[in-house]
Amino acid sequence: MEARKYRRIVLKVSGEALAGEAGHGIDPIVTESISKEIAAVADNGVEVAVVCGGGNIWRGISGSAQGMDRASADYMGMLATVINGLALQEALEQIGASTRVQTAIEMRQVAEPYIRRRAIRHLEKGRIVIFAGGTGNPFFSTDTTAALRAAEIEADAIMMAKRGTDGVYDADPQTNPDAKMFDSLTYFEVMRRQLGVMDNTAITLCMNNHIPIIVFNIDTPGNILKASMGERIGTYIGGDENV
Ligand code: UDP
Repeated sequence: MEARKYRRIVLKVSGEALAGEAGHGIDPIVTESISKEIAAVADNGVEVAVVCGGGNIWRGISGSAQGMDRASADYMGMLATVINGLALQEALEQIGASTRVQTAIEMRQVAEPYIRRRAIRHLEKGRIVIFAGGTGNPFFSTDTTAALRAAEIEADAIMMAKRGTDGVYDADPQTNPDAKMFDSLTYFEVMRRQLGVMDNTAITLCMNNHIPIIVFNIDTPGNILKASMGERIGTYIGGDENV
């Protein structure tokens, strides 16, 4: 493997990624294989922080569509990300990877509270840090959490591991055979074309803090390691100077 390009990364694992083919819940086989890849990234000397989504269990927006108060529905979503975070920690520790979960909403019996300096210290010691509980605030997403935490811990890039797509396309490749994948894009283009890579809050945060985003397919074995080592796969999103 060539020399690593990134010193520290944030890997965004959506809830959907952990659900595997079922589309909901947690698939232990899929979770194990994702964990092996994450551990391999850490073994290659890249500091890894993981932000877990929760969409495989609960999404606030669906709850509020059913008449629930949006803030309450979002808190349920944040708790769902903690369930995923614990599942990922368990899978990582089973393969011997030292891991800490930090939650944005305190639940000390279950995990550490999010403390920025402490998270950085864990990373420096080679531990994998899982950020669960989103930002701790309703009306946000775990994509925004990934952007926020990446800025806070001064990560070099965000790895957006997606299910069922190799990168960012100009149209839906499932329905449009002429859809083309972008090799690279600027933050501005992602927003202007509303490409749906991340919500606008997350993209804006990345743009303002100059954090590149690499979007790639998590279904292809080895992709997490490849992207984290700086191999050019999927779609690279950055500022004008980099794309
Ligand atoms: N959520 C929230 N604030 C945050 C992060 C997440 O309220 O800072 C809630 C929101 O309801 C969201 C749910 O948690 O729908 C699960 O997160 P997300 O949809 O981002 O998960 P993913 O799509 O990545 O699985």
